[in-house]
Amino acid sequence: MTERSMKNRITYSPAFTLVPTYECFNRCDYCNFRVDPGGDQWLSVEVARDRLLTLQAQEVIEILILSGEVHPQSPRRPAWLDRIYDLCALALDLGFLPHSNVGILNEAEMARLKAVNVSMGLMVEQVTPRLQQTRHRHAPSKDPATRLHHLETAGRLRIPFTTGLLLGIGETEADWRETLAAIATSHQRWGHIQEVILQPYNPGSQDTFRGLGISDDQMVRAVTVARDILPPDVQLQIPPNLIQAPETLLACLDAGARDLGGIGPIDEVNPDYRHQQIDRLREFLACNGWQLTRRLPIYPQGDRWLPAALQAAVNRWRGAIADTPLPSPSHHPHCPETRPPATLEIADVLGWL
Ligand code: SF4
Repeated sequence: MTERSMKNRITYSPAFTLVPTYECFNRCDYCNFRVDPGGDQWLSVEVARDRLLTLQAQEVIEILILSGEVHPQSPRRPAWLDRIYDLCALALDLGFLPHSNVGILNEAEMARLKAVNVSMGLMVEQVTPRLQQTRHRHAPSKDPATRLHHLETAGRLRIPFTTGLLLGIGETEADWRETLAAIATSHQRWGHIQEVILQPYNPGSQDTFRGLGISDDQMVRAVTVARDILPPDVQLQIPPNLIQAPETLLACLDAGARDLGGIGPIDEVNPDYRHQQIDRLREFLACNGWQLTRRLPIYPQGDRWLPAALQAAVNRWRGAIADTPLPSPSHHPHCPETRPPATLEIADVLGWL
């Protein structure tokens, strides 16, 4: 057990993911998500309703709407956007807080979705154009200028926003710095970036890249560099299911990471890497001096930009979270020095939370 006091708080968002469609016109070679256009049946509102109804008695707050991209010129693009809008509206109706990350949107599309999302997201990944010749050779949406433009549009529209870097896809530390600086500049202009994800590439069973990713030391280094470059009001998020060694997770927290992102039964982007059981993760962190608490998919500074209907929903959740007593280390009387968090078993996935 460390000497660190429990004042060190780490947040996560209890989340469930809806995927309108896995089809995507991009072909990133590290992708473990996509199917070819026309290769799946889009998620219907009726099926989504059945899934969400089973979550209402559980602790889920955020519904992450995560989608592959239908080509901007496709005649199916309006129907795709309608489906995303309808799924967000459904989640709101059922008392959840939607957060959409559906790829590149134009300004009108983004403005429309703002009405049914408490926040939105898009990974910048890396701004170096070199990756357009390798990982993103067949992914026009990954053009760095297009993604930075998306970030700017979100800021202009006053949308609380999550972005991030994908690490270990052939970039350098100088590239990290350039990407982080570009995100910081956009945030300084608009004040809309609430968190930046540092996502280490981990090989999956479907990707064709099969790269090595980054080492544990590099992961900790990335957190240190990011904390140095990003403004202090931008939280740093790390995905615990993609960091294999418990000591590396702790080192990332020591280096300034303060959020573990959305945690739910399945990481749709990295389906080969299950999330830890939340109670075991909380216990592991508590035994090492960190207090894991829930958060909403919108940070308090973003509330001022919400439409009234969304503000009311957010207020209800802020009250519910404030009323929940914080876990204390006394709930975890047995704290071994290094006890790795258990991964979810199938039974846990079915009966999650
Ligand atoms: S990573 Fe995203 S943009 Fe790239 S192919 Fe997969 S779903 Fe499409």
